[in-house]
Amino acid sequence: MSTEHEQRAGVVQHSTLPQPDGDSAVGHGTPFVRPSDLLRPRTASKPDRPIDRDERAGLKAIRDFLRLRNCYEVLPLSFRLIELDVNLTVKESLNILVQCGIVSAPLWDSSTSTYAGLLTVNDYLNVVRYYNLHADKLKDVDNLLLSDLKEVEHILQVKSPETISTSPEAILYDALRKQLVSRARRIPLVSYDSESQRSMVVSVITQYRILKFIAVNVNETDKLRKPLGTIRIGTYENVFRCSMEATVLDVIDEMVTRNVSSVPVCTTDDVLLNVFEAVDVIELLKSGDYSNLNWSVGRALAQRRADHPGVYTCSLDDGLDTIFDTIRKSRVHRLTVVDENNVLKGVLSLSDILHYILIEGEEAKH
Ligand code: ADP
Repeated sequence: MSTEHEQRAGVVQHSTLPQPDGDSAVGHGTPFVRPSDLLRPRTASKPDRPIDRDERAGLKAIRDFLRLRNCYEVLPLSFRLIELDVNLTVKESLNILVQCGIVSAPLWDSSTSTYAGLLTVNDYLNVVRYYNLHADKLKDVDNLLLSDLKEVEHILQVKSPETISTSPEAILYDALRKQLVSRARRIPLVSYDSESQRSMVVSVITQYRILKFIAVNVNETDKLRKPLGTIRIGTYENVFRCSMEATVLDVIDEMVTRNVSSVPVCTTDDVLLNVFEAVDVIELLKSGDYSNLNWSVGRALAQRRADHPGVYTCSLDDGLDTIFDTIRKSRVHRLTVVDENNVLKGVLSLSDILHYILIEGEEAKH
């Protein structure tokens, strides 16, 4: 009933739009509506519903909160920082990451006593691609140093990783806006010690930590009830997926080309089975045996540690209120959007969520 009513209302509304010359209303008083007219943007603004007002109030509360906090406040009371010297080999660094259960670390150049950028899983993906293209050099892989990674990136002609950093005293909202522009996924907090005149890495804040900080401290996240299907955040077109039989190396290649950090693993009918993540590569490489990369995705996933948290899914009917609930309780790195039959619909990354809570409606104000 209501659909029919809305459709009719739409036709009436569009028929009042100016018609191109010579193609205007035909007949006596009955406007002629072509299918293309229905594609035109609506001119009348939509009525403001309580759910829209609540969504705006929720976003405002989050932004106001972020404007009052600095980056220090995101850090837990007690934390450790693992920094890697650029003179370590890539193989040693992999072992350290695996042993410590981390996937990224700031680099330290002891010859200049300076922060030398952030080591992330993308650096390892580049190493994989490099040896795939230059198999003759694979014998040298054990001697590859972290300081050689820049050379690898240069040869591969990939963009160097972002080197942005921010002061721990920076306002969180400003630091996040800076991060969004840069496409960096983590913010290293670097402070300057005026006594020793040296810079010092204090910690690194991740997108998850920021979203969790919001989830725990801002009650108004429960106002964000508009469904994902309406706010349309995430990626729903051309989602890159793979099968259990795909080769890890092929999947890595595609991930680097598309600049994504995970790939849904599906059946031929698009039913979601699992998600292969860029960080899964760390576990595969730690033995130093690069032939593991010819494994199938299914075999690689079977190597995951027993405490792997699994895959988080949501539906197009979920709002950010329930997603923030999940973030509050669990260490989520992304959500895969599925329908009631577990058929893949899209991917919602943490950067998509951050982008929405920082930017949505902001441009319209200027
Ligand atoms: P993040 O930026 O949080 O680390 P990603 O790098 O995975 O997450 O996502 C970057 C962008 O690419 C996001 O907009 C996300 O929706 C999209 N995306 C993520 N995975 C895929 C995929 N497999 N296919 C297409 N787009 C994806």
